[in-house]
Amino acid sequence: MILLTPGPLTTRLSTRQAMLADWGSRDGTFAALTANLRDRLVQIVHGEKTHVAVPIQGSGTFAVEAVLQTLLGRDDKLLVLSNGVYGERMASIAHRLGRKVEIRRWPHSSQVEAQEVKAMLVRDAAITHVGLVHCETTTGLLNPLAQVAEIVTEVKRHLILDAMSSFGAIDIDVREPPISAVLSSSNKCLEGVPGIAFAVVDKELLSRSSANSSSTSLDLHLQWQEFERSGQWRFTPPVQVVAATVEALEALDREGGPQARLARYQENFSILLTGMKALGFRLYLDESVQAPIIATFRSPEFWPSRDGVFRFDDFYAAVARRGFLIYPGKLTSDETFRIGCIGNVSKSDFEELLRVIADLLGASEGPTGRTGSGDQAGGD
Ligand SMILES: *Cc1c(COP(=O)(O)O)cnc(C)c1O
Repeated sequence: MILLTPGPLTTRLSTRQAMLADWGSRDGTFAALTANLRDRLVQIVHGEKTHVAVPIQGSGTFAVEAVLQTLLGRDDKLLVLSNGVYGERMASIAHRLGRKVEIRRWPHSSQVEAQEVKAMLVRDAAITHVGLVHCETTTGLLNPLAQVAEIVTEVKRHLILDAMSSFGAIDIDVREPPISAVLSSSNKCLEGVPGIAFAVVDKELLSRSSANSSSTSLDLHLQWQEFERSGQWRFTPPVQVVAATVEALEALDREGGPQARLARYQENFSILLTGMKALGFRLYLDESVQAPIIATFRSPEFWPSRDGVFRFDDFYAAVARRGFLIYPGKLTSDETFRIGCIGNVSKSDFEELLRVIADLLGASEGPTGRTGSGDQAGGD
């Protein structure tokens, strides 16, 4: 199966093969793997001088919860900038943790507005931290990280960046303007298997955060302390996942780093979009705010079924029978579905997917012949 989803994703054979061994969690060999993992994660966002990587067992949300729990003190206040479900989730986690939290919402199709954020921060001195989702996987929208980071720095607050679906592909530099914490997981643009979440955190800030977490397992400060003290994880580590993630990070290097990976995703996205447009589908977002990570399409108003109605579940099943797993939409306001562009997938996978969809539409000819030259776009 080719997974065209927001994760878990299609992985390389070498990544899966890296798991075919057992490791003792306290053994030096495994401690070296963990150190390798932590070093590479910090390097990706250029934090060697200022930041440390703290992996934690679990899915991405575990890192969000651990970071908010550990970095926010009882008297701190978080402002969440939200234009999708992951912004909402960040706010709801902070709320459940009993932290002060304010949420500023924008429509799902609009970027966060940095100037508006500045006004809010100037007005409310109680806000100590700002939460931003880099690529809102709900729609595939890219938020203006540089502008928001600049403003948060200017007014001397801390930026917590959920970079779950951008880390490893879209460039993030924690140095200037500084980002206090960047969060992601093993199974998105890093193209590893699921099981590890992590945060790359400002070391100075983290060292001042020992008293905050009321959770035992989601205490990022203690987790970090143990890595520094013994090189070990506090509780049973997902040893095979660590090995697979290190191999996935080596594969990222072999590919040419985040820039080369982004270029491949960009090509995937562009083939997909051109082909889907030629078949009459419409992208939900304005292309100017779209990241080449996951595409949201509006459900077509007509479909060659008995009653002319498009049903996602039937479409999903038909595409799955031909080897591709796509994803439902997550918007309540519009009928949509999503197709991911990330993972170990490339041009030929998208050309094949477009042939499959064209077949479903009853087109006599797949769209790839027409989209290959890129001059037949705009079928909508
Ligand atoms: C995937 C994702 C998460 C975390 O989701 P999990 O299911 O816990 O891995 C958080 N934020 C964003 C933007 C994501 O894409």
